[in-house]
Amino acid sequence: MIPVIALVGRPNVGKSTLFNRLTRSRDALVANFPGLTRDRQYGDAVLEGRRFMLIDTGGITGDEEGIDEAMAQQSLLAIDEADAVVLLLDAKAGLMAADHGLIDHLRGCSKPVFYVANKIDGTDPNIAMAEFYQTGAKQIYPLTATHGKGVRQLVGDVLDLF
Ligand code: GDP
Ligand code: MG
Repeated sequence: MIPVIALVGRPNVGKSTLFNRLTRSRDALVANFPGLTRDRQYGDAVLEGRRFMLIDTGGITGDEEGIDEAMAQQSLLAIDEADAVVLLLDAKAGLMAADHGLIDHLRGCSKPVFYVANKIDGTDPNIAMAEFYQTGAKQIYPLTATHGKGVRQLVGDVLDLF
């Protein structure tokens, strides 16, 4: 079984940066996964010989009316399709209202959820991590998606579940 991992989070937190880094935009194998729709972006990836499938919940610019609902809707669909969920938070921006909406939803979700403090390069890591731990998350993964720092730790732990 190839695990399917959904990347969720509000716009601009770095989901696509992480997606592109891991998949190198390869999506040739998407056709082999019946049931996945094309509304979201799918890519297959390999980490240390372990294959997995990623879902990027992109396509929302932040300009739409009802942005929270649109984001939530996309995220819900991706979460439904996934075996595990990676929630990205923006360490540079800190916690925002839309983050709380997603966090609340994920609390009621039966799937494993990994909390990530992305853009940790752009801020004081201790302050950002302390703020994010206030969400009640047991573990937060510091990440710099643009440079790949923290990616192996995060994805390795996700894949260890499968
Ligand atoms: P998305 O909307 O969640 O898909 O976010 P993107 O992947 O498009 O990234 C939004 C912006 O954040 C881009 O300008 C990225 O270059 C930037 N970004 C992403 N990851 C990092 C990071 O780890 N550090 C910093 N400083 N910027 C980042
Ligand atoms: Mg994106």
